[in-house]
Amino acid sequence: MGKVTPHQAEAVRQLLDDEGKSIRVISKLTGVSRGTVSRIAAGKWRPHVPKKPEVRDTPDAKRPVGLCPVCEVKVYMPCRACAVREFMRKKRRF
Ligand SMILES: [Zn+2]
Repeated sequence: MGKVTPHQAEAVRQLLDDEGKSIRVISKLTGVSRGTVSRIAAGKWRPHVPKKPEVRDTPDAKRPVGLCPVCEVKVYMPCRACAVREFMRKKRRF
């Protein structure tokens, strides 16, 4: 019993709506498990949608993205790379 494709689900729905077949018969005709057919009949079935890559919940994700005026790269503002460079520059001076 593999995953049910939206196409299969549509076939199940059509058989349920148009022909009034029993869940057992629809299961045999479409190859969809009886449990899934009854869920489709009850309107509880949802197609398997691939998950979107998760947005990491880091402080970086909450900072606005902007073009750094110094290194001219799109970064999370303020530019961390430039902050580090500035820090190192100051460190060297003293
Ligand atoms: Zn920068």
